[in-house]
This record gives sequence, C-alpha cells and structure tokens, in this order.
Amino acid sequence: MREGRPGDDDLRRGARIVEAYLRYNHVSISELPRVVEIVYSTIASLSLATPKAKSPRPSVSLKDVTREGIACFECGRRVQLLKRHIRDHHNLTAEEYRRRWGLSVLYPMVTPQLSAVRSAVAKKAILERLSDDLHLNSEGDIVTEKAGA
Ligand SMILES: [Zn+2]
Repeated sequence: MREGRPGDDDLRRGARIVEAYLRYNHVSISELPRVVEIVYSTIASLSLATPKAKSPRPSVSLKDVTREGIACFECGRRVQLLKRHIRDHHNLTAEEYRRRWGLSVLYPMVTPQLSAVRSAVAKKAILERLSDDLHLNSEGDIVTEKAGA
C-alpha cells in the first residue's frame, strides 16, 4: 500500500459501505462522487492513523526465547542470561526492561535450557542439605540429627 492511497482492503470496505448507503438512501448521479469521496477519505484517515499508534514493544513470540538464547530487544543479540546482559550492556534492571518493552512479569530472563539446569542444581543442593540433616536409623526410618542426638 502506497502512502496516502487506499489499499485493496480499504477499497473493498469502502465499496461495501457505499453500496449499503445507496441501498437505503436516494443519491443522484451528481452526488455519488461526493459520497464515494467522503467514505474513502474517512477510511484512509482511519487506516493511516491506526498503524502509527504503535508502542515501542516489538511483537513477542516464542522465537524470541530459544535454546540459543533470548533475543535482547535493545540490541538484537541472543543471550543465555538476559538479566545480566541488560544490566551490563544497557544499564537496565529486569523490571525496567520489562516495563520499557511492555513485557509481562513472567517474561523469562534466562533460557529454558539454562533455567532447567539451574533448577536441577538447586534441587540437588536442597537434597544434599536435607540428606546431611536426615539420617536413617537401623530400621530404615528417617530420623533427624536432633531426634537421633
Ligand atoms: Zn542487548
């Protein structure tokens, strides 16, 4: 669609509106161009106004978060740790970044792969801590250090 000219969708929409108008209103042949002009200029002004009212937020899709990394909207690089990247390269906190790009608070700051590794490491650490505190008695029951002491 060229700037200032109606696209195919606008032409079809305009034709339907003019057709509907003519069905219920008596318009002489000399008035017809004026009706068409009003309808099309109104549609054109509405279609041109809509796309310009865009937010700075890009369209966020699953492609933004892949195994290779999360796309940084500031510079376009793919990184594993977005939080560290935006802090070091763009001087932004995760909260500032999400607000700036209109992202949900759930928008990930690490890749799913790295998140899974971190989760596994955290679970292992918890299990190790628990196993240090828990002991099995001769019957095989779990007893805490305090109860056993
Ligand atoms: Zn960046």
